[in-house]
Amino acid sequence: MDRILNQPWRVLQLMLLKRLGIYQNNPSIVNIELKSPNEYVEFYRQKLTDDYIDELVAYNPSYFSGKNIKSVKEEMGKLRDLIQKSKDEAASKGKYFKNNELEPSMQKNWLVENCAEVWAVRDAILQGAKIKNLVLRSVTVGTGLVKAFCNNNCRIMFEDFMNSMD
Ligand SMILES: [Zn+2]
Repeated sequence: MDRILNQPWRVLQLMLLKRLGIYQNNPSIVNIELKSPNEYVEFYRQKLTDDYIDELVAYNPSYFSGKNIKSVKEEMGKLRDLIQKSKDEAASKGKYFKNNELEPSMQKNWLVENCAEVWAVRDAILQGAKIKNLVLRSVTVGTGLVKAFCNNNCRIMFEDFMNSMD
């Protein structure tokens, strides 16, 4: 599950819809058609914005009732900061996704945002969790075995979560 964007696009879209399953009554998600990797990247990134949280709240007021939206946005901001931290470190080491200097990533073949861990944390935030309280563990889909965070995007992003991997 690490390299979401390396999957064939159709599979990826299905995964994405499944991942966003609780929001399926948002017609802008269900009916969306993405035609290229760049569109996917933009689609993913938009899902990490405060604007998108506002959209979700507007479409799913009952899901968010009782949740502190301001706090959800603050936590999403922290997740964006973690992503940026990973990118800054990659840039400082001259590491880029597919040698594209606009896209720092410790992994040559996938973007920082592609890691499944990012999306797991995002889901938890949308459910009202605080990042500082999260324990993160990655498993290999299929075997269910615990696996290490990827080198090094996730390690940089989630180094404070690492105890859960012991
Ligand atoms: Zn990763």
